Amino acid sequence: MAHIKEYIPIVGRSIVDDLQLIADKLQGKTIQHINSTAVGGGVAEILNRMVPLLKELGVDTRWDVIKGGEQFFEITKKFHNALHGRPEIINQHDFDAFMETTQKNIEEVDISGNIVFVHDPQPIGLVKKKSGNKWIWRCHIDVSNPNQKVWKFLRGFIDQYDSAVFSAPSFSQHLPIRQFLISPSIDPLSDKNKELPQETIDEVLQKYGITKDKPILTQISRFDRLKDPLGVIEAYQQVKRHIDCQLILAGGAASDDPEGLRVLEEVKEKAKNDRDIHILLLPQNDIEVNALQRVATIIIQKSLKEGFGLTVSEALWKAKPVVASNVGGIPLQVKHKYSGLLCHSVDGAAFAIKQLLNSPEYAKKLGENGREHIRSNFLLTRHLRDYMLLFLSLYHGEDVVYL
Ligand code: UDP
Repeated sequence: MAHIKEYIPIVGRSIVDDLQLIADKLQGKTIQHINSTAVGGGVAEILNRMVPLLKELGVDTRWDVIKGGEQFFEITKKFHNALHGRPEIINQHDFDAFMETTQKNIEEVDISGNIVFVHDPQPIGLVKKKSGNKWIWRCHIDVSNPNQKVWKFLRGFIDQYDSAVFSAPSFSQHLPIRQFLISPSIDPLSDKNKELPQETIDEVLQKYGITKDKPILTQISRFDRLKDPLGVIEAYQQVKRHIDCQLILAGGAASDDPEGLRVLEEVKEKAKNDRDIHILLLPQNDIEVNALQRVATIIIQKSLKEGFGLTVSEALWKAKPVVASNVGGIPLQVKHKYSGLLCHSVDGAAFAIKQLLNSPEYAKKLGENGREHIRSNFLLTRHLRDYMLLFLSLYHGEDVVYL
């Protein structure tokens, strides 16, 4: 795990010095993060890096994960889909079962933080334990157009928090509590993002039987319909009629996402008969993800909805040309025709991919711009600063605080 000083060559000394100054002001406060999975997906990814760094800065920080059975995570996945605007049948029984698991967690999770930082809907009900401390609800998902039934249910909890945090301006909602806009981030020194020796990249390619004889299009995502893996295959098929290329669709399973294996089967079915489509069920292995991103000619993120899209930051940090949907937090990262190309459909994605494959110099320039855009806005150091200022602001009356 990298130490805070190792970020100086990447972001500059003044940024790291500022972090220490702000951290010192948090002496005496304990921060407690709570979410629903220790591995898989963006939230776990961020907490795995952020918690040790906060500790190193001297901020007393702990991280707890709630427990839930298969049924609970089936229900929270339905909530997740419904909040993203997908039709789902959710009935009173689901809400009751959600509350049953919530109640068990209320009994089991020891709340000791002065600031309790709850991530996403799964642990949201723990706020019933609030007693004199500060509670933040961190929404990582795209709630620009949420299913009203689920949103109303969640509002019963959200309103009890002190503040809410969203990743993009379009997600903010009318709430009686203060709201903050804080984008997620990536860690440039993690195994996922650090530079890799060519041998390591080659070993990963060999492991999966992939050769570099034709351009590689890659999407790395959980197998989730909202990541539109079938749409990615369709876009690839359109491109392939004009330019010979191969497609890597790679993703692992997250313990709070029971739908993944079903989607994987659909993807395999659609891809059958094409040996240039590589569908990889990845183990939790950041080096492999890193290598697959680095070997890509173009990285795709054709999500239908997206909370932020860490995979886009990861790709841009590696100076890769990116084609990604104009949804959720993606347009914060991909400035169209500057740090990548945005698309709105399968046809649009195919068109953009062809354009980049045909113009390698242009593709390279977009990737380079993307890397600098991520350096300025979406690295862990900026994120740490925003969170620590948020913590401090909780103790500063009701003034509006601009981060
Ligand atoms: N990821 C991974 N292995 C996989 C698929 C995804 O490590 O097989 C990582 C990916 O690199 C990124 C995170 O999980 O860091 C996904 O975050 P994102 O915001 O893109 O999507 P989410 O899964 O949170 O919807």
